Amino acid sequence: MRVEEVEGFVGNYHTTLSNGEVLEHGVVIIATGAKEYVPHEYNYGKDPRVMTQFEYAEALEEGRINPEVVVMIQCVGSRNDEHPYCSRVCCSEAVKNALLTLEKNPRARIFVLYRDIRTYGKKEVYYRLAREKGVIFIRYTPERPPVLEDGFKIKVYDPILQDEVVIEPDYLVLSTGIVAPREENERLSKLFKVPLNQDGFFLEAHMKLRPVEFATDGVFLCGLAHGPKTVEESIAQAYAAVSRACTLLSKDGIEAVATTARVDERKCVGCGYCEMVCAYGAVSVVEKRGRRVAEVNPALCKGCGACSGACRSGAIDLRHFTDSEVVRQITSLAGI
Ligand code: SF4
Ligand code: SF4
Repeated sequence: MRVEEVEGFVGNYHTTLSNGEVLEHGVVIIATGAKEYVPHEYNYGKDPRVMTQFEYAEALEEGRINPEVVVMIQCVGSRNDEHPYCSRVCCSEAVKNALLTLEKNPRARIFVLYRDIRTYGKKEVYYRLAREKGVIFIRYTPERPPVLEDGFKIKVYDPILQDEVVIEPDYLVLSTGIVAPREENERLSKLFKVPLNQDGFFLEAHMKLRPVEFATDGVFLCGLAHGPKTVEESIAQAYAAVSRACTLLSKDGIEAVATTARVDERKCVGCGYCEMVCAYGAVSVVEKRGRRVAEVNPALCKGCGACSGACRSGAIDLRHFTDSEVVRQITSLAGI
């Protein structure tokens, strides 16, 4: 089931689902998650010995495999032109699975081929533990990535040995990144009038001051919809989003600012510039009496004045800050 149509604003949303059901709600929390990158590299999908970290952990836990030699390749499909960001969880996942392999088979030999190990925060402890237990980490560069050769051999250049190393593993495990479901996110971003970043994840209003909110009132976000993060971080963000949503839901009504924008429909030509510049999704161009004109939703308008400055027809201004009021203030100050 998916969201088909959204009408309304903070405190008064009407959302139509694909089964025809209409939900009435006051706030929205976007927690739509993300996807695992499906690799086309290293014969994935063709050779059953090539798997993702997720598949490898599952097979290991279920006792379907008991590997002696394992090669893990980091940053597969990540930190490249298509997905330039770090997925944040893959290095920790590789270290966790390396330790799990050693727990099941202490004689196993594990090679992690990496660009930079980013087991950030307290997970650094596990990285050290893996090294102490004999997991071998070999750095590679994007210009010289590991190569899968005939006979299931992995060839990689070791910058410390300054020579090529060839490993014959039982399994090749790919640390694949997290990617946004771009098409679906674009659809939702239009429905809820909230922005996406260049990677297709939802973009918060302010990284530090409003980390779980959008500029549009009443819409919040958490989890992988916002970008790659660990489960712990997703849970912390979910708590934050719920608590911000509750501050709105606990009120009897919504207070709007007094200086909202208003449209003079006789002057408006329906060009849509005001809609384009409004960061709060408060203006939309609608059909009225056979004409396209701008309409302001006072519940969403913050009175920032951006629309008023953008309108070339002088058709939109702010209550208590009309052009004539501002001109009169200036002339009286200047004593003209
Ligand atoms: S920018 Fe001005 S003319 Fe254009 S739609 Fe908005 S109010 Fe109307
Ligand atoms: S005043 Fe600001 S918030 Fe209000 S409609 Fe204009 S651009 Fe949007």
